Amino acid sequence: MAIPNIPPEQMRSALKELQQAVYNHEQWAENLHATLICHLPPDLRDTGTDAHRNCRFGQWFYSAGAAALADHPGVAEIGHEHERMHQYARTLLTSSTGGVPISIGDYERFVSTMKRLRLEIETVQSELQDALYNLDPLTGTPSRIGMLSKLREQHEFVVRKVRPCTVAMFDLDHFKAVNDQYGHLTGDKVLVDIAHYIVAHLRPYDKVFRYGGEEFLICLPDTDAQTGRDIIDRLRAELGSLMHAAADGRTFQVTISFGVTLLDPDIPVEQSIDRADKALYVAKATGRNRTVIWDASMNGTPEPAATT
Ligand code: GH3
Ligand code: MG
Ligand code: MG
Repeated sequence: MAIPNIPPEQMRSALKELQQAVYNHEQWAENLHATLICHLPPDLRDTGTDAHRNCRFGQWFYSAGAAALADHPGVAEIGHEHERMHQYARTLLTSSTGGVPISIGDYERFVSTMKRLRLEIETVQSELQDALYNLDPLTGTPSRIGMLSKLREQHEFVVRKVRPCTVAMFDLDHFKAVNDQYGHLTGDKVLVDIAHYIVAHLRPYDKVFRYGGEEFLICLPDTDAQTGRDIIDRLRAELGSLMHAAADGRTFQVTISFGVTLLDPDIPVEQSIDRADKALYVAKATGRNRTVIWDASMNGTPEPAATT
């Protein structure tokens, strides 16, 4: 399941809030059981039609804090299960306060919805934890750990002709000179700013991985070759015109070379990555600051051009 591009700080605090919300929810469930078993007066927040919004879990779930997770596919399901569970809880409370015995069917529906809700929440928690673990500490983008499995997921869709997928490798041009001229910390900041720009300007389900050093891989699901090329080349132009500032106030721009290819259904994803890399090599060799699409003639690659 894809984790959308949430900045790590936001992901960390959403995860913490989710843990707290789960704890609150367990307390709510204990209180509900006490109310039913001991025939206590129900909490009025549980008897209204918007009970799912009024419990402490609901208050968090429908707040700005949880909005960071809104694009996560499991989160919508949590919302549905949680709402359903409150509907069933209301049925139990209505029977109980009306002096009517609770039917086993009503009780079982409530319990199984609560179990499904717990499963959905635990799944989202574990996916967020995995995603956090796999983040590159400098840029906050996913590192190459986990990259192949994400690409293989997309490869499956390509093989089944569900949807194409474009991948692009990119490498900052003359980045050694940026470090030499402006210092390593400024170089670090350039990497961070570029990664953040890309995350902010691609769709939530597009992915950028730090492949190593100043080299990254972008994965654009559901994107054919022409669209992929257009998206990547637009990104290249925008990134190249970003203005960076050194600590001493000097400003400068950094261009980027891209190699692009489609995930090929007939070869392993590693070989498609290699194609993108070959196209990137050609982009470097033919002048840098350009987007090159892989083609079969690139099996023998020219020497990189001298510094321009
Ligand atoms: P080219 O256009 O051919 O890619 O030239 P280049 O100078 O970018 O390539 P080269 O491979 O010679 O240098 C890569 C540089 O990227 C050197 C390395 O110190 C720098 N680099 C890699 N990772 C980091 C990082 O995390 N932070 C900083 N500041 N620099 C990094
Ligand atoms: Mg470079
Ligand atoms: Mg490099």
